Amino acid sequence: MRLSRYFLPVLKETPSEAQIVSHRLMLRAGMIKQAAAGIYSWLPLGFKVLNRIEQIVHDEQIRAGHIPMLMPTIQSADLWRESGRYDDYGEEMLRIKDRHGRDMLFGPTNEELITDIFRAHVNSYKDLPLTLYHIQWKFRDEVRPRFGVMRGREFLMKDGYNFDIDKDAALHAYNRHLVSYLRSYERMGLQAIPMRADGGPIGGDYTHEFLVLAETGESEVFYDSEITDLKFGAREVDYDSVPACQAVLEEFTSRYARTDETHDEGVFTAQVPETRRRSARGIEVGQIFYFGTKYSDAMGATVVGPDGTRTPVHMGSHGIGVSRLLGAIIEANHDDRGIIWPEGVTPFHAAIVNLKQGDADADAACEGLYKALVARGLEPLYDDRPERAGAKFATMDLIGLPWRLTVGPRGLAKGVVELTSRRTGTSEELTPEAAIDRLAQIYAEHV
Ligand code: ATP
Ligand code: MG
Repeated sequence: MRLSRYFLPVLKETPSEAQIVSHRLMLRAGMIKQAAAGIYSWLPLGFKVLNRIEQIVHDEQIRAGHIPMLMPTIQSADLWRESGRYDDYGEEMLRIKDRHGRDMLFGPTNEELITDIFRAHVNSYKDLPLTLYHIQWKFRDEVRPRFGVMRGREFLMKDGYNFDIDKDAALHAYNRHLVSYLRSYERMGLQAIPMRADGGPIGGDYTHEFLVLAETGESEVFYDSEITDLKFGAREVDYDSVPACQAVLEEFTSRYARTDETHDEGVFTAQVPETRRRSARGIEVGQIFYFGTKYSDAMGATVVGPDGTRTPVHMGSHGIGVSRLLGAIIEANHDDRGIIWPEGVTPFHAAIVNLKQGDADADAACEGLYKALVARGLEPLYDDRPERAGAKFATMDLIGLPWRLTVGPRGLAKGVVELTSRRTGTSEELTPEAAIDRLAQIYAEHV
């Protein structure tokens, strides 16, 4: 993409309505525009990152054997009356009447709808296990929408639902989700700690929240510092294997990590040596539940078991806050000049900054780099505007592309361009070919 032809409405001023850094930076970098309280338009740059996050979630869900689909945003109230949640959900649910006076709602979550699909089409234990998921807009009429996309009213969520024959099988699905979530966050450049949590309105005895540590997090978290060293790396997990998923779950959850609601001071002190005790703030970027037969009992979702009798299915649900993740990633990756995207989610792979637009050699070198990057499957953002170098650097720093190629007559005379890391600020002079190879190599680890 050439910046002269892109739509990147960056703001010079710091918007006064934004209280936290990710909200400020998303507005300043021209990623979002508020349409109403807690409701945002996704401008091209924000939309690109949103898509990258979505794609990682899809990849990792499909890798775990979960099946993508799409359910509507508007639902009929009747299904929610069956589960009893139409009355229970309260003010957070946006209730709508259609022209015939029928009660409808903008879905805050989809347990009822998916259970209805299940009971209409699945009859036998032979069709289990089954996990269906979608990535779809939700609406929750939050009392205090704030912090930009972090606590919106309309927000994008990946929500998935597993159907299993019994509790053991459903707990395997739970563990599989825990593993796939950890992998997803890691690919986004995040360290998300799984914490045992409260069930809330979705209900259930087994539930973990995934928290990203950041000063602006809404919950206080207490943890063993060793937990933040845990990494997946290149490790593959056999998702069909009960012991393999169980082993990962134990590895990542056996060390102390609790939110304020579940924290037990006594246990913390007994289990964690003083030097490893930490408390911080955390942003919830996902949650998984096993809730047994709560919805299948209420809505008659049963299958014929091996012995020929009908039995209610065991279910769980799992959510990732796709749009909230943009805020969380920025909270965890920025400096005073702007955003620093992790390679896995960056909207463009590299910036090309032409220091002397209009100079035949500099222009030709930039065009050459542009074509070479595209040929290697990478997406550059080329600042081809006739601006001062300082302004070009400031824009690229603000929007946070992790790598910048700087091209100018002085370097070209020596046959080199400059490759700069946004994160460390260090630069290297390389031939254009070597710079392209380096970038291709860096991104090969992030596909
Ligand atoms: P919270 O406690 O933050 O209100 P929740 O526990 O009600 O969230 P879940 O039902 O667990 O939310 O939804 C799954 C994920 O969706 C959450 O982990 C969070 O990342 C995201 N999410 C929930 N509410 C919002 C919101 N208002 N804006 C953006 N993302 C949200
Ligand atoms: Mg939650």
